[in-house]
Amino acid sequence: MNANDYMAGIDLRGTAYLLTLLVASVLFLLGLRGLSHSETARRGMFLAVFGMVAAVLGTLLNSRIVTYEWILGGLVVGTIIGVPMGLWIPMTKMPERIALSHAFGGLAVALVGVAEYWNHHASLSRFDTGAIGFEVLLGTITLTGSLMAFGKLMGILPGRPQTFPGQNALNLAFLTTALVLIVLLIIQPTQQILFYVLFTIGLLLGILMVARIGGADMPVVICILNSYAGLAAAATGFALNNPVLIVCGALDGGSGLILALIMSKAMNRSFKNVIFGAFGATVAQECVGPDCSSGTVRDGTPEDAAELLKIANSVIVVPGYGMAVAQAQHAIRDLADLLEKAGTEVKYAIHPVAGRMPGHMNVLLAEANISYDQLYELDSINDEFQRTDVSIVVGANDVVNPAAKSTPGSPIYGMPILNVGQSKVVLVLKRSMSPGFAGIENELFVQPNTMMIFGDAKKTLAQISAAVKA
Ligand code: NDP
Repeated sequence: MNANDYMAGIDLRGTAYLLTLLVASVLFLLGLRGLSHSETARRGMFLAVFGMVAAVLGTLLNSRIVTYEWILGGLVVGTIIGVPMGLWIPMTKMPERIALSHAFGGLAVALVGVAEYWNHHASLSRFDTGAIGFEVLLGTITLTGSLMAFGKLMGILPGRPQTFPGQNALNLAFLTTALVLIVLLIIQPTQQILFYVLFTIGLLLGILMVARIGGADMPVVICILNSYAGLAAAATGFALNNPVLIVCGALDGGSGLILALIMSKAMNRSFKNVIFGAFGATVAQECVGPDCSSGTVRDGTPEDAAELLKIANSVIVVPGYGMAVAQAQHAIRDLADLLEKAGTEVKYAIHPVAGRMPGHMNVLLAEANISYDQLYELDSINDEFQRTDVSIVVGANDVVNPAAKSTPGSPIYGMPILNVGQSKVVLVLKRSMSPGFAGIENELFVQPNTMMIFGDAKKTLAQISAAVKA
């Protein structure tokens, strides 16, 4: 064979396709590795972005593509939706945005599955039919489940578990039916009715599964949906014979599952309990305004807080969702700088479910250039509160609520909390006595060593800093 014959034998397009997908897969792996450490997270993010670009370019080289017009149309529509979402949705709305992104991912996967089945059901192999079945089931569950999560996070839907008698049995029956339908489809791929019943059951399952999960369990739900989206993408990879989809879907599915386990552990809840327990069913109190708390509230001014902080040797800052709403992270940094200059030790206590998404507080504090060395996880700081002069609770509520220890039947009962109440003085910065995400009163706010400082956290912190300087 001469060189020309040899070259002609090589399918250049196919080789380039596989090579690009290999590069994309390696970039995804390196990206994920980078994301596992705060110092390398930014680099990890860029590697993952390059990986995605390589995956898209590689997929465009696929010889099965017959026309690029529809793909171009999809790129334009995706860009029109994605760019404004990325640019304009504020950090505070990130959890809702992530829920929407999962929903879009689920929709895409489900639509690809329907198109594959529609076009090729007469010639599909058993393996491909099974892959498409799982793809459509997971895609539809992710779609409606994520939309439900989005509605709950936005407050459009009630955060309480929506339950009715026999709901677990119904969910289990739907799940079993869906699995039986996949098996039947593998045996009889041309039975189209089975496929469309499977599609409908997936949509219903997503709604029913997330409806019964209460607000306090949303962190776990978001991670589970993340995992489903990844597994659905991996199933799509098998159906389309696209290796990069299999790799990145498996990575996404696996990491989502690990995160869900970490979050369950952080909340001291088993997976089974999250999915079948209707946690939060006893949520009842709606409390707005300072008058509705059952106890004596001691409120103070920013100047009072400054006086206490000036004589404190040790301070622990406990950020929560309210810090994200107020965008108070820079104001926290300014106050901490002042205190540290005066010789006070300042640490930050991060609860795993503080905020509205995993790592929410870490991201915001990093944005304000607060050193990662000063951030402590629940386990490593909880014993320090009893030796601390002042704890400053900035817009946190559920994660410092003693009801988690003292009130069986409370929606957060059993969840480990930050023991802020054990410090000598607790300063709580929030706007009113309104409850947090779980919707329950917080007895920390009426403890004798607690001083409430009402107002927007960012403004209050600026006033405290001004008073400390003065
Ligand atoms: P919470 O939601 O319990 O409380 C936040 C508090 O912030 C509110 O009580 C609110 O009180 C206060 N607040 C709001 N805006 C401001 C502002 N501008 N200035 C000052 N305070 C403000 O937050 P936590 O972080 O303590 O707990 C997180 C909760 O969210 C948990 O129940 C968790 O399960 C749930 N969750 C967590 C997710 C995650 O992945 N981390 C995902 C989904 C849910 P007020 O209105 O009086 O100011």
